[in-house]
Amino acid sequence: MEIPRKIEKKLGKRLKGAEITEWKIVKESIDARDKKNIKWIYTIDFETEPKIQLSLPEGGEQPYRFPKSGDAVSKERPVICGFGPAGMFCALLLAEAGYCPLVLERGKKAEERAADVERFWQDGVLDPESNVQFGEGGAGTFSDGKLVTGIKDPRTRKVLHELVSAGAGADILYKHKPHIGTDVLRDVVQEIRKKIIRFGGEVLFSTKLSGIEAERGQLEAVTVLQNGTARRLKTKVLVLATGHSARDTMRMLYTRGLFMEQKPFSIGVRIEHPQRIIDLAQYGMPHEDAGLPPAEYKLSYRSRNGRGVYTFCMCPGGEVIAASSENGMTATNGMSYHARDGAYANSALLVDVRTEDFGGIDPLTGIEFQEKYERLAFENSTAVNRPPCVMWGEFCGSAVQRSIPEFASSAIEEAMPYLARKLKDFDMPQARIFAVESRSSSPVRILRDAMYESNIKGLYPAGEGAGYAGGIMSAAADGIRIAEILISKYKKIES
Ligand SMILES: Cc1cc2nc3c(=O)[nH]c(=O)nc-3n(C[C@H](O)[C@H](O)[C@H](O)COP(=O)(O)OP(=O)(O)OC[C@H]3O[C@@H](n4cnc5c(N)ncnc54)[C@H](O)[C@@H]3O)c2cc1C
Repeated sequence: MEIPRKIEKKLGKRLKGAEITEWKIVKESIDARDKKNIKWIYTIDFETEPKIQLSLPEGGEQPYRFPKSGDAVSKERPVICGFGPAGMFCALLLAEAGYCPLVLERGKKAEERAADVERFWQDGVLDPESNVQFGEGGAGTFSDGKLVTGIKDPRTRKVLHELVSAGAGADILYKHKPHIGTDVLRDVVQEIRKKIIRFGGEVLFSTKLSGIEAERGQLEAVTVLQNGTARRLKTKVLVLATGHSARDTMRMLYTRGLFMEQKPFSIGVRIEHPQRIIDLAQYGMPHEDAGLPPAEYKLSYRSRNGRGVYTFCMCPGGEVIAASSENGMTATNGMSYHARDGAYANSALLVDVRTEDFGGIDPLTGIEFQEKYERLAFENSTAVNRPPCVMWGEFCGSAVQRSIPEFASSAIEEAMPYLARKLKDFDMPQARIFAVESRSSSPVRILRDAMYESNIKGLYPAGEGAGYAGGIMSAAADGIRIAEILISKYKKIES
């Protein structure tokens, strides 16, 4: 009841004695700039009895409006390749609008996938088709489930509402930095799959896109490997949402004539501190004592060699994980559970990679660049499921330093004291550093026109792997945008 009292205090006479009957939090954030006076900041929607006219901006959210169906006729269902955020939300929208999409996913259902990932983490047995990158929910399933995004796209509200109706907490609708956690996400993605199926869609797991057929520039069919057996599926529409780790698929598509270009990305390490150190730096005390969530940070620095050094995908109370998807290569990343109650905080510490660094002009040389450092990290590690790790105080000359490009390690070494001026003890010698953080985004982009179609008509590249998103929310919004284009172009298939 403290919030209605605060509204009354703030508005005073402007309330004209009306009673606050209902209220809801629209946004919640923390202002910790002044450590002696840390504030919660709220935006509140409220109703009064009787109704009063306040000269405040109109609030309230419009429900998502589906576009009008188009006139083009297609006899086959739209096919979506990849069941990460981009493919999943594209499929959900198409299913809700009555287009009965067929989803192909090379990995397994969330539960079976979780067992495969656990086997890799415990015993080092990697399944190249079912791992941290591949399977139901895509790369985001084993993540912190941060839902922050730099894009200002109203479709992200649709994404948040769908996540809530699939089981995520309603607080993601108003938190300034919403997050779900890997434990909750694993259930949420299964619920979304069930909804797609209820609306007439179909999801085929362990089914990998292995080829495409086009005639006179128009897509006519795809070939798939389903549990090892080859199948041909006729379709004139394929949404390609394969994520940034499907290197074999990108290579296959390039040989089939799909236009692609190089794309800059970033490479670096993962850094881990005790969460208490981050709390002290941000709140001046442990977060439990402050009554606040585990503290976060976001830091950046421009090095003398012109490279940007920045922290990315910070996981408070989280874990550093092995996130490889290919044998003989090691990649690292971070994830956390909904409670974020682990004793450590981790974050990627990245340096920008330019296309000139790739060492060639072929569109796929960025992939080769990533693979080179992932192979080095594999060779420099003590076990296939243990990314090379060292304390910051011993970084120089270490296996971790040898697993990243020289320009990246020198930029990080230069940046650390500066970053520690912004966040106390960031450069503590006991901070743990892991290599290699190489999959922050895609090093290649598939070209698409203003209507999101590639040079092969009927093939629509989507999401992070195609180079049009960075993170769960922007990938999901991109998938929705493509579904809207398909709906406004095609009629529903008559059953
Ligand atoms: C460990 C980790 C933590 C992360 N944490 C966050 C976070 O907290 N917040 C955030 O916003 N982002 C996070 N990310 C990034 C986020 O997961 C991605 O940005 C997002 O998942 C991209 O969505 P997508 O749909 O484009 O691709 P993906 O999620 O990569 O999905 C692509 C899917 O396509 C499938 N596929 C690939 N090739 C084929 C084929 N040939 N046939 C059939 N299926 C195929 C794959 O199996 C995969 O399931 C994290 C990533 C990782 C790995």
